[in-house]
Amino acid sequence: MRLSRYFLPVLKETPSEAQIVSHRLMLRAGMIKQQAAGIYSWLPLGFKVLRRIETIVHEEQARAGHIAIQMPILQPADLWRESGRYDDYGQEMLRMKDRHERDLLYTPTAEEMVTDIFRAHVGSYKDLPLTLYQIQWKFRDEVRPRFGVMRGREFYMKDGYNFDLTKEDALHAYNRHLVSYLRTYERMGLQAIPMRADSGPIGGDDTHEFLVLAETGESEVFYDSAVTDIRLGAREIDYDDKAQCQAILEEFTALYARTDETHDEAVFAEVPEERRRSARGIEVGQIFYFGTKYSEPMGATVVGPDGARVPVHMGSHGIGVSRLLGAIIEASHDDKGIIWPEGVTPFHAGIVNLKQGDAGADAACEALYAALSAAGLEALYDDRDARAGEKFATMDLIGLPWRITVGPRGLAKGVVELTSRRTGESEEMSPEAAVARLSEIYAGVL
Ligand code: ATP
Ligand code: MG
Repeated sequence: MRLSRYFLPVLKETPSEAQIVSHRLMLRAGMIKQQAAGIYSWLPLGFKVLRRIETIVHEEQARAGHIAIQMPILQPADLWRESGRYDDYGQEMLRMKDRHERDLLYTPTAEEMVTDIFRAHVGSYKDLPLTLYQIQWKFRDEVRPRFGVMRGREFYMKDGYNFDLTKEDALHAYNRHLVSYLRTYERMGLQAIPMRADSGPIGGDDTHEFLVLAETGESEVFYDSAVTDIRLGAREIDYDDKAQCQAILEEFTALYARTDETHDEAVFAEVPEERRRSARGIEVGQIFYFGTKYSEPMGATVVGPDGARVPVHMGSHGIGVSRLLGAIIEASHDDKGIIWPEGVTPFHAGIVNLKQGDAGADAACEALYAALSAAGLEALYDDRDARAGEKFATMDLIGLPWRITVGPRGLAKGVVELTSRRTGESEEMSPEAAVARLSEIYAGVL
């Protein structure tokens, strides 16, 4: 993409309404525009990162054997009356009527609808296990929408639902989700720690939240600092292997890590004092096992091996896809702007032409742009007739992890400069070497 033809409405001034750094940077980098409290338009740069995150979520769900569907945003109230949640959900649910006076609502989550799909089409234990998921807009009329996309009213969420014959199978589905979520966050360059949590209005017994540690997080968390040393990394995972998934869950949840709702001072006191931490965290996902809470009242049953009909065991599992942009920025920025992890960056590299209009520099940038593209890398080429300082400031603000600087002086020696946004370190090399280096870096990104 050539910057002169792109739509990147960066702001010079720091917007006063934004209280936290991720919100400020998303506004300044021209990623989002607020349209009403907690409701945003996604501008090209923000939309590109949202799509990157969404793609990683889809890829990891597919790897875990989960199947994508799409359910409507507007749902009939009658379904929610069957579970009792139409009345229970309270004011966070946005309700409306159509022209025939039928009650509708904007989906805040979708347990009822997915259970309705299941009961209409699945009747035998032979069709299990089954996990259906979607990535869809949700609406919750939050009392205090704030912090930009972190706590929106309209937000983008991955919500998945498992259907199993037995509790044991459903707990395997729970473990599978935990493992696939760990992989998902690691690919985004994030450490999200599973912490024992409270189940809230979804209901149920077993639940973990995934928290990214950040001072601006809305959750209070307590943990053993050793938990921050554990990584999934590139290990081979067989999602059908119950023992392996269970072992990974145990590895990641054996140490103390809880949100304030389940925090227990007595148990925490057993953690060696120098490892006891209390901090703030951003909830980027949550998994639940809730058994037959929805399948029983809604008649989602299957014929079991012995011929009797039994309600299925279920769980639901969510990832805050739009909130993740804020969480990633909170975890990865400096005073100049965003620093995107390679896994989610909107462009693989930026090209800065130090002397726009100079025939040699222009031609070298065009050739570099074409070579990156041929290598499968998408560059943002700053071809504006602007000062070098302004071009650097824009690149730093929007946070592309790699920048290639091209100017007449370097070209005379046959080199360009490759700069890491994270370390600020620069290295001179031939344009071909820069392309090769970037190809290598991105090939190594999970
Ligand atoms: P919170 O406690 O932050 O209100 P929740 O526990 O009610 O969230 P879940 O029902 O677990 O949310 O939804 C799954 C995920 O969706 C959450 O882990 C979070 O990342 C994201 N999410 C929830 N509410 C919002 C919101 N208002 N804006 C953006 N993302 C949200
Ligand atoms: Mg939650």
